[in-house]
Amino acid sequence: MDIIFLKPVFKEKIWGGSKLRDEFNYEIPSEKTGECWAISGHSNGDCEIINGDFKGKTLSWLYANHRELFGNIENDKFPLLVKILDAKEKLSVQVHPHDEYAWEYESGEYGKTECWYILDCKKNGDLILGHNAHSKEEMKDMINRGKWNEFMRTIKINKGDFFYIPTGTIHAICEDTLILEIQQSSDTTYRVYDYDRLQKGCPRELHIDKSIDVTNIPHKDYEISSKSKAYKNAVIDTLVEEKYFSVYKYRVDGKESFSHYKPFIMGSVTSGNGYINNHKISKGTHFILPSTVKDFTIEGNIEIVISSI
Ligand code: ZN
Repeated sequence: MDIIFLKPVFKEKIWGGSKLRDEFNYEIPSEKTGECWAISGHSNGDCEIINGDFKGKTLSWLYANHRELFGNIENDKFPLLVKILDAKEKLSVQVHPHDEYAWEYESGEYGKTECWYILDCKKNGDLILGHNAHSKEEMKDMINRGKWNEFMRTIKINKGDFFYIPTGTIHAICEDTLILEIQQSSDTTYRVYDYDRLQKGCPRELHIDKSIDVTNIPHKDYEISSKSKAYKNAVIDTLVEEKYFSVYKYRVDGKESFSHYKPFIMGSVTSGNGYINNHKISKGTHFILPSTVKDFTIEGNIEIVISSI
């Protein structure tokens, strides 16, 4: 088994737009397309394999039936999910539970630690990361009185920024932001605040009690790594190396060979174009290198975000 390429699954959202088509050339279902599930074995959006011996099968099928391609890891489900999000409007302010809480209250789901690589954003763009409450009582009080501006912590962002968002972190993507998200394979979100918006005439459900249960108080910022490794024709930046995933940014200008020692790795081309092991790839291509492909050569002028467990 060589490189695995997948067909993305698209999700329409009230906050979505058309950049997944305009920027990435994907065929999207409507002008309100919010999410591209690019590498997913989750039952809410299971990607189809589009090349090789397993063409037509889903990633969850491949994971269940050919675990050797994933280094025989023991997770009962494919553990990670890679998405691109086009937030034309703000997303709801939300928080995700950790594994044990999700397992107990969300019928066996994984928790959802995630991370964001900002592909593009408006000038002076921002997002919500963390909160200002010092205790559960204060959080409850701020929510009950609708003191959202006091509660939420807004930070400025730029294209190329990276954020690690462990479970229990209050967060929201704001309008005009395009993000590559790598996360645990989970679809469990507790919505704290939805800006009083309506969807088909009704407000979307909020999950205030569960949010207060799982939020880390006080909020602590995560220190992002600044490790870089230079090659003759490439630079690898380490973005994060944590319990659930590691994420690296590969920038190649020319031709360079690499090896990995992981059970499998996933790649997302974020700009430029070129080749990986002689397969043509360009901005918007996502792939998996199974455990049978430990060595790979990248050629071109290209940026790829590589992630793994
Ligand atoms: Zn989230």
